[in-house]
Amino acid sequence: MISPVRLTGSSRPLKSIARSLLSLLYPPSCALCEAELPQWDGQVCLCSACRAVLPRLVAPWCARCGEPLEGDGADICARCAGGELPFERLRSFGSYQGNLAELIRAFKFGGERALAGELAAYLLELATHDPQISGAHAITFVPMTARARRARGFNQTELLARRLGRRLELPVIKVLRKLRETRLQVELGGRERRENLSGAFAARHDPRYEKILLIDDVYTTGATLAECSQALAVAGYSQIYALTLARTVFKPRDDQDN
Ligand SMILES: [Zn+2]
Ligand SMILES: [Zn+2]
Repeated sequence: MISPVRLTGSSRPLKSIARSLLSLLYPPSCALCEAELPQWDGQVCLCSACRAVLPRLVAPWCARCGEPLEGDGADICARCAGGELPFERLRSFGSYQGNLAELIRAFKFGGERALAGELAAYLLELATHDPQISGAHAITFVPMTARARRARGFNQTELLARRLGRRLELPVIKVLRKLRETRLQVELGGRERRENLSGAFAARHDPRYEKILLIDDVYTTGATLAECSQALAVAGYSQIYALTLARTVFKPRDDQDN
């Protein structure tokens, strides 16, 4: 699907020359439909037609958790009205379906690391529209156990956080740790998901930062973000914000593990 261009070394002029030569040999194409990309900025990206049909979420949404609302005048959803979420605010770029789900799956399960730049741009768009979120002091991410990370070769949420951190000029800090392997969330119901993850994460307080932005890929039942935010709050961070690429607005699909 995609031919990521990986160049080593640190010389920028050489990199860009090599890139130009490579793009003559392999004209850059859309990650989804393979249409040629006329203006390539060195990142793998989508053509304008594919971008136009990304299933973006639009307001009105819950002021707290970002869940799309019916537009009946309420500013928070029933779930947020009924209980305390352990984070200040969550925003998600789109619903987990269509070409966005395809991109996330290619990134996460297909090993297409080159998609990190494209996907981080969606998080950047959310952050730049929300001064509270872009005003975080540091960024962190949902961790994997060392074993799971070795098996996948990378942690997708860390790649997203690092790209976003570079663009927002915020430090990315590794303060969450996953203490044990958990069962695949897909095998479980909502309440079991929470129990499955209960106590699975621990956080370390970095006293330089109070407001922290937590990155995950997909928000399904919210169990992962709730557990991680809880651990961050217990560690001593006073304000926790969260961003995800996508959230389940319809019935969960069977490859989600959050
Ligand atoms: Zn396309
Ligand atoms: Zn809500």
